[in-house]
Amino acid sequence: MTQVPFLDLRRHHAPIRDELMAAFEAVLDTSAFAGGPFVQQFEKDFAAYCGTRHCVAVGSGTDALWLALLALGVGPGDEVITVPMTFMATAEAITYAGARPVFVDIDRDTYTMDPRLLKQAITPRTRAIIPVHLYGQMADMEPILAIARAHGIPVVEDACQAHGAAYQGRRAGAWGDLGCFSFYPGKNLGALGEGGAVVTNDENLARTVAMLRDHGQARKYYHDRVGWNARMDGLQGAALQIKLKRLEAGNEARRRHAAQYRALLADAGGVSLPVERPGSRHVYHLFVVRVPDRDAVLRELGERGVHCGIHYPIPVHLQEAYRDLGLRVGMFPVSEQCAAEVLSLPMYPELTEDQVEFVAQELKRCLSRHAATRSAAAVPQPTAQLVPCA
Ligand SMILES: *Cc1c(COP(=O)(O)O)cnc(C)c1O
Repeated sequence: MTQVPFLDLRRHHAPIRDELMAAFEAVLDTSAFAGGPFVQQFEKDFAAYCGTRHCVAVGSGTDALWLALLALGVGPGDEVITVPMTFMATAEAITYAGARPVFVDIDRDTYTMDPRLLKQAITPRTRAIIPVHLYGQMADMEPILAIARAHGIPVVEDACQAHGAAYQGRRAGAWGDLGCFSFYPGKNLGALGEGGAVVTNDENLARTVAMLRDHGQARKYYHDRVGWNARMDGLQGAALQIKLKRLEAGNEARRRHAAQYRALLADAGGVSLPVERPGSRHVYHLFVVRVPDRDAVLRELGERGVHCGIHYPIPVHLQEAYRDLGLRVGMFPVSEQCAAEVLSLPMYPELTEDQVEFVAQELKRCLSRHAATRSAAAVPQPTAQLVPCA
């Protein structure tokens, strides 16, 4: 039976295996294990790629978000605005900075922060805004930045899913005061372990993040403030230099697969396809559709060899960990509806056209079976009223 895994990192690394091994030997020969020249070279390369003046490599995307907030001076008593439809780390970084996450719902087409809801969430305590470039598409930065600037509030981009995405021709990370990236292995640019980076055009912010990631020292054993160990490994810096050279080709392949999915699923009933914002470049970290009976569809596709994911089944405001915030079902209805309906189809550069076709065909079969069952049922299911957003 055909099997389409959700991710295939072995195949991703096979063509660069020799190059990676040579780079590891170079790290081994120079013992540049924590920070050091390999990381510094990657920082230069990645800043150039993003179109920013500075890049500070750190241990993970979570570190990047947390240190970015600390560099802005966010602390206890402050509020930081973000979206509930994101990975937990966005909110965790806010909490670990000592501040309180405040949520703004997402736009139902692009799944990113709805700028029309932003203003009403701002209070005198708001110290930062974190739009999340979810699934590989940037948030609507122009209105978000206009509102933020009018209130004098800095913007931190969560670009952990958006390496190489662009908005009006400028790349993710280059719009806000700081941009945060993750190099978790499955991201569009992934390390061979954990990694992250903060990019910025502001020299002071870059210096502060660099200090914070290294125990608050700019000079060895002179600690200006309390920082943390959030340095990037030399091995990761070396691997990321090599992998960065292939990021554009990977993003283009993802965009081709997305176009093929789109063409094949155009006539499928009951499925909402991702919407690309005009003037934006979506880099399809994930290809997320919305379907009724999502959990059954996920299970049945798995049985047919098509392995999908859910990003994310529970919005952050409804997580047990944030029970203390006192937020309830119904407060962020778009996020909540998406959480119930989103389904991530296999998406990575190494997918073949045959695999994309197989996934689309199996999804269509599955959906028409469900549609037939629903129309045969006496009582209409509420999920049958799903409004396609494309
Ligand atoms: C992956 C991710 C993070 C966290 O990155 P790590 O490197 O896993 O710490 C944060 N935000 C979003 C939106 C992510 O997808």
